[in-house]
Amino acid sequence: MAATVKEFGGSGTFKHGVHPPERKHFSEDIPIEVIPSPKKVLMPMLQHVGAPSVPVVKAKDVVALGDIVCKSGGFVSVPHHAPIAGKILKSTVTTLPNGRHVQVIPIKADGEQLEGQALKDEIIGGEWPLDSLDQYDRQTITEAIAKAGIVGLGGAAFPAHVKYTPNDEKPVDTVLINGCECEPYLTPDYRVMMEATQAVVAGAILAGKAAGAKDIIIGVEDNKPEAVKALRQAAADTGVKVALLQTKYPQGSEKQLIMAVLKREVPLGGLPLDVGVAVSNVGTASAIARAVMRGKPLTHRVVSVTGSGVRNPKNLLVPIGIAYRELIEYCGGLTEDAARIISGGPMMGFAFANLDAPVTKGTSAMTVLTAEDVRKADETACIRCGRCVDACPMNLVPTKIALASRAKDVDLAQAYHIMACFECGSCAFTCPASIPLVQLIRTGKARVMASQRK
Ligand code: SF4
Ligand code: SF4
Repeated sequence: MAATVKEFGGSGTFKHGVHPPERKHFSEDIPIEVIPSPKKVLMPMLQHVGAPSVPVVKAKDVVALGDIVCKSGGFVSVPHHAPIAGKILKSTVTTLPNGRHVQVIPIKADGEQLEGQALKDEIIGGEWPLDSLDQYDRQTITEAIAKAGIVGLGGAAFPAHVKYTPNDEKPVDTVLINGCECEPYLTPDYRVMMEATQAVVAGAILAGKAAGAKDIIIGVEDNKPEAVKALRQAAADTGVKVALLQTKYPQGSEKQLIMAVLKREVPLGGLPLDVGVAVSNVGTASAIARAVMRGKPLTHRVVSVTGSGVRNPKNLLVPIGIAYRELIEYCGGLTEDAARIISGGPMMGFAFANLDAPVTKGTSAMTVLTAEDVRKADETACIRCGRCVDACPMNLVPTKIALASRAKDVDLAQAYHIMACFECGSCAFTCPASIPLVQLIRTGKARVMASQRK
């Protein structure tokens, strides 16, 4: 019998949120394809939450696929590994789509590369025997996760080993694997659930063992029935449960997911750990399985190249560090009416113009919108309709925060809990006056952080 979400305490949804058009049809049914190995990659030293990684190579060094390029810069940090075989070039600086200027280590391809189906088999294909997982203990698993440089692949890029290192003060009873993928357009997680189902289940079990959790639950929205079916089949007799959730944005956010599945409220400013939960994305789970069962580091990830502004949308397995430009070219280029390129999806992603920027471990998609997609009414005055308040999953009052931000009133913005906003965009999506609430809140948050540095 399939598990229903009620048995975990939740109702299968959370309060507030919105239903933006899903637009998954561009890429959801397109199997993951391996992009040809690039001539060069740029490996950013800071592509995760925490301290920058520290280079362990120098110009002219030769590296093989999977060799370490940067070591971890602290406990909340990760190492990075060569995604191609090649020669190290002199380090330089680039700007990522989120506007951050970061140091990068270029690697120029040299020698034979693992490519095509062989690469796909090695990363997500083949067998992931679930009856072999007893041999791995807690410490072995967390060490393998840390050594492999795994971060949250849903976009947060938080070092995964930190969540799974035993913490006696805050024990974890539940590992939640996030298969919601609630952001419009995006489909990499869906394809991973469909094509690497057993690896996802194996990674979920390993994450549960590392955390010492008694329950392991994979949460998936009801707009992905095929993924639910595949996961339930793969997880049969393993103890891993699959919770079916109502489709709503931003359910893939950790706090909303925990509420939807377990009905536990993460305190304002708190973490899932505060309510006994560790959350990882399905892609992260498959990377954990690979790190532990095959001893391989995180060198590649699945990225959707999607939207009506790209000629042939695809789901691609790409090396970390490949330029966005190569993804677009491989997908047939931009359409004539392409108007906005976004790293990620339209709700939480970053519009950018530097196509030479590298894909990082947190890059889930490249969404290209047309002029028609982005056409928007001019901003008008707030009519105090309260829709933004009804939409906010964090129970904030976005209109007041935005006003405080416009007035550059740092104290007032903090009194309205500006820092609790995670920029999901639900408020701006629903605003009939087209007020750029998220941009105003982002600016306000930057001002608060600057004031704290003084
Ligand atoms: S205020 Fe922040 S958290 Fe609330 S809806 Fe707007 S963007 Fe999302
Ligand atoms: S949704 Fe827009 S118009 Fe309505 S209260 Fe919020 S900011 Fe004002």
